[in-house]
Amino acid sequence: MSETPAAKDAAPAPVKFPPYKLTSRLSHPENSLVPVGDIVVGGPEFIVMAGPCSVEHDPQMLGTAWDVKLSGAHILRGGAFKPRSSPYSFQGLAEEGLKMLSKARELTGLSIVTEVMDSADIDLVESYADILQVGARNSQNFSLLKRLAKSKKPVLLKRGLMNTVDEILCSAEYLLAGGNEKVILCERGIRTFEPSTRNTLDISAVLSIKEKSHLPVIVDPSHASGKASYVAPLAKAALAVGADGLMIEVHCAPELALCDGEESLTPQSFRELMAFLSEVAPYFGRKISTVGQLDRSKGL
Ligand code: PEP
Ligand code: MN
Repeated sequence: MSETPAAKDAAPAPVKFPPYKLTSRLSHPENSLVPVGDIVVGGPEFIVMAGPCSVEHDPQMLGTAWDVKLSGAHILRGGAFKPRSSPYSFQGLAEEGLKMLSKARELTGLSIVTEVMDSADIDLVESYADILQVGARNSQNFSLLKRLAKSKKPVLLKRGLMNTVDEILCSAEYLLAGGNEKVILCERGIRTFEPSTRNTLDISAVLSIKEKSHLPVIVDPSHASGKASYVAPLAKAALAVGADGLMIEVHCAPELALCDGEESLTPQSFRELMAFLSEVAPYFGRKISTVGQLDRSKGL
């Protein structure tokens, strides 16, 4: 049956957006790039954020910072405000820890990512950090997200323990709708019925986030598994599945760590992992140009 002239001229059906319109790929078909210092998250470089779970003291922070830098990490992580399940566990060094991170940045040149747990601390954390991390437990703290939407700094938004992909995309929407487009998502495992790992790494969430959204997404195999021996295999899976990078816990002496030592890589195993990832990255359309750079330029 031929179309009537009226049907031909009819306006196209309106696009039906999900409840996260700005975060949706429908409104932004190209991948978003998030610049942090002189690196870019979401482009061809596979970005690795590494460092201890918590900032503990200068020698620990500086030692680990140099170790991860020399292995090719792009960004240094470390928590100064720690969301601990028990109020009796180490809660972090707060501003003292931020100062240690900042000293490590000064000496190594690495940008820093650190968690902000409370809206009241945003000004303080913002004055030190290059990326503001929203932890899994705060993934749906909407007043925190609304306030972070006003920040000029990029936000690393972790998926909540019980959040669906659509829910983390809605959380990201709070940031974008409030004016902050520099958002990096992080799959860090979700809570399931399976107790053999700390959480269950939802590797296919990377695919579904990439399909639904233009935002970069990284994987945290440390909190996802809770076991140092699982971290490297899961990190490789993240590269293979198309994640934009990783967040990995590394400690200069994991057996002495005040938090998450059991899932922290030693500097040596991190170095081996980075060497492997940089070798295979081109097979997945990525590169890790920082590996070996210092060795070459400084004879290290
Ligand atoms: C962290 O990265 O320090 C952390 C506490 O992770 P998560 O919020 O994913 O548990
Ligand atoms: Mn941790």
